[in-house]
Amino acid sequence: MAVPVPGALSSRIELSAEAYRGNVAAFRAVVGATRRVGAVLKGNAYGHGFSELLPLAHGSADVLYVVTPAEGLAVRAWEAAHGAPRREVLVIGALSSDEVVALAEAQVDVVVADRSIEGAVAALRARGLVARCHVHLDTGLGREGFTERQLDAGEADVLARARDVLQVAGVLSHFANTEDVTEQSYAATQLSAFERSAARLGERVPLPESVSRHFAASAAALVLPESRYDVVRVGIGLYGLWPSTETRLSARVVLGAVPTLSPVLSWRCPSQVVKWLPAGSYVGYGCTWRCGADTRVAVLPVGYWDGYPRIASGKAHVLVNGKRCAVLGRVMMNHLIVDVTHAVSSEAPLSATLLGRDGDEVLSVETLAGWAQTIHYEVLTRLGAHVPRVVVER
Ligand SMILES: *Cc1c(COP(=O)(O)O)cnc(C)c1O
Repeated sequence: MAVPVPGALSSRIELSAEAYRGNVAAFRAVVGATRRVGAVLKGNAYGHGFSELLPLAHGSADVLYVVTPAEGLAVRAWEAAHGAPRREVLVIGALSSDEVVALAEAQVDVVVADRSIEGAVAALRARGLVARCHVHLDTGLGREGFTERQLDAGEADVLARARDVLQVAGVLSHFANTEDVTEQSYAATQLSAFERSAARLGERVPLPESVSRHFAASAAALVLPESRYDVVRVGIGLYGLWPSTETRLSARVVLGAVPTLSPVLSWRCPSQVVKWLPAGSYVGYGCTWRCGADTRVAVLPVGYWDGYPRIASGKAHVLVNGKRCAVLGRVMMNHLIVDVTHAVSSEAPLSATLLGRDGDEVLSVETLAGWAQTIHYEVLTRLGAHVPRVVVER
């Protein structure tokens, strides 16, 4: 048994289909009908669960972006199994030559970001395969992609020499600093570098008329209209979350109104036991909490193994019956202990919300990320892949 299967009393993640579709519609409204909206599914679909999220993304977005070759092939396998039409799929991560060949065979697009693609050329020719590729230009992130200097040195010229097996379908870049600021001067320098580099590339490698240009992730798609080009690559936004507070502030200014994004994910956990602890009792490892009064606690079978950050100990709360309940003592590997004295009126089994809405209260992933001194992207992608996911309509 490769994957540990959780028991019936484990926590579970709910995905709202309606929220996801609404978020795609919100981005379509922002970028306009002439542009395509692509869904980014890397990091286990931002922790939402790749296989559960894929049907939703496939049914509502125009392009799917993944990082690993396995994810790209999984999209094709799902399409074949469900008689679904083939979507454009692009693997944006690093690839070996064998992986380029396997993806070309499955008609999954690949990124050419450096001259290592030369290794795949002979293998593609030997098999009579053509890889559809997108050329990544490094315009100031310093991560993958050809820099202007590399273009001038001819490092992308392999694309001209191997036009029989490398068919350029797109040119892309990625921003370094759109969500951390409200003024976009660095993004403006990246946009100029993109225009220059794309022209430079076009001088050395004949690009088809139909080549698609894409640059914007969620933040830029929302607040930097000139970055939208032909298609936007939206990750966090389609999961119903703002990239940052700065982006939300800028959206009000740039768009005149703030689009409605609805979080797709909720995380809930049934109680393992509810019981009274007498005043003076210690709670949890290290005896860091002591009950000042008789306290009704719920022991929840969820902990840092499942992705609940241990660093949130002493700060976090969960929701029970729409009321905030403090997490007492330390977050453990498989347990949280919460104070439910005033949230329930008996020791009957209960359900706690770790993320999401319960009644009038909402516990956002941004809030949990704040307690954990990190960003919501990290909290989400660290949610255990073993935690069961279920798609619900609303
Ligand atoms: C992760 C990623 C995105 C999506 O970013 P969000 O901020 O989640 O929208 C887009 N493009 C590339 C290249 C990425 O790595």
